[in-house]
Amino acid sequence: MSEHINTAGNHYDIIIVGGRPAGATLAARLGQAGLRVLLLERAVMPSLPAASSPIIYPATMQLLDEIGADEADYAHNTPRIRRLVSEVREDFRVTFDLPALFGRDYLYAIDRARFDAALWRTAARQPTVTTHDGFSVTDVLRDGKRIVGITGRANGRDTQFTANGVVGADGRFSLVARKAGAASYDEQSDMPTSIYYAYWKQVQPYASGAPIVHSYATGRGYGFGLMDSADGTTCVVIEGRANALELGDAKAHELYLQLLQQHPRVWRRLVGAEQVTEVRGMRNIGNMYRTAGGPGWALVGDALHQKDPIDGQGIYDAVVTAKLLAQALVAWRNGSITWEQALHQYTTAVRAETAPMYAVTMDRVKRELYTEHPAWAYRSWLRWLVTDPEYGRRMVWLLSRGLPAEGWLPRAVFFKALARGAVRDVARRLAHMPEPYALPPLAV
Ligand SMILES: Cc1cc2nc3c(=O)[nH]c(=O)nc-3n(C[C@H](O)[C@H](O)[C@H](O)COP(=O)(O)OP(=O)(O)OC[C@H]3O[C@@H](n4cnc5c(N)ncnc54)[C@H](O)[C@@H]3O)c2cc1C
Repeated sequence: MSEHINTAGNHYDIIIVGGRPAGATLAARLGQAGLRVLLLERAVMPSLPAASSPIIYPATMQLLDEIGADEADYAHNTPRIRRLVSEVREDFRVTFDLPALFGRDYLYAIDRARFDAALWRTAARQPTVTTHDGFSVTDVLRDGKRIVGITGRANGRDTQFTANGVVGADGRFSLVARKAGAASYDEQSDMPTSIYYAYWKQVQPYASGAPIVHSYATGRGYGFGLMDSADGTTCVVIEGRANALELGDAKAHELYLQLLQQHPRVWRRLVGAEQVTEVRGMRNIGNMYRTAGGPGWALVGDALHQKDPIDGQGIYDAVVTAKLLAQALVAWRNGSITWEQALHQYTTAVRAETAPMYAVTMDRVKRELYTEHPAWAYRSWLRWLVTDPEYGRRMVWLLSRGLPAEGWLPRAVFFKALARGAVRDVARRLAHMPEPYALPPLAV
């Protein structure tokens, strides 16, 4: 636990509760603008967050460049991944190469404890930012309807701090949101998913041996992801419809191993490998927004907006909403707008930035996890669509945020992809050519 005090007294411009991607990057940005910030975190850094798999795209890294976060620090000993391979049942396989976007042509499957700690240090480097980990916020202080500070506990001692504004960057189960009475909206609770994951060592390389993200879709409401991560580890994830991954009488690690063993495309890579962490995860993951703020308080990151992790956009959303909130708060602190105007500006910007991708993610959960397609669909139109180069290009650009989510797949592109696939199949059969997207035989 560390306390890094830069300011005298217990009053700040802004108190931030929660010190991971949203909270730490917000603190760094406010510090860059000279605001006096207190950043409080319950966990002792470095430590893992509650649950998260590890993908970050170049758009996220570009936002981190803006606050001076050091890539060599947050991605220390972590391989650069330039290729995604997607296997769909035994029906087809497609490869996507990462385009050069935002100055990088790779993504990372980072070590979250290392990554979060590097962001924490980035915030702490700002002279006007005070960081305090091992500090659990237990309540907010009020002056009438306005929130004016927090009370919390560290080392068995209760302490109060006051501020002109309190920000909840405290994740999906946000205490600040609860205490402030933040309403939720745009909630989508009819398609819950669950995830289980662990890190492994000595995983069999995929084909060329270059670091990759390898996914395998079962077509039965769940799929697998194997992502090459830091220090020679591979993160192996199972995500699916909550009702397809019910534990029943089993423990999470039993279900996890059982499912891995049932799928030879995945298991063949784990034969001889060693599981080096416990199985972590989350059940019944929900999707929603909360009101962005009120008198003296605001929310950012998962506390503000949470959605299914299938597209790996949570960290990006956390750091981009932190940027949007920082812009609003700096304008408020300069006196050019009121607190209410700042919240209005922030709410509008957050919706514009996140709502289209939220809709795409919900659509993907419905299509890939909640819709059972007949076998012939995988062999025809789904294969035509997913293996179409223009579809693939757009998909990777979408996830990398190089393409606006709204209208990312125009109807014309969709139908042309199907037509190209059908024509390609006919031509290939007439010429007695092999299927280029077939999976390699399983026997090794
Ligand atoms: C299973 C799963 C897999 C995911 N995979 C990915 C992925 O591959 N890529 C991706 O981009 N996103 C992924 N996400 C989403 C991503 O993890 C989150 O969106 C991101 O961590 C949100 O950052 P945050 O800073 O808002 O909140 P968090 O990371 O949740 O941090 C909140 C912090 O607040 C602290 N806190 C809470 N209450 C208090 C309190 N009372 N006092 C003091 N501190 C407090 C907590 O200790 C915590 O450290 C995944 C999520 C899940 C659930």
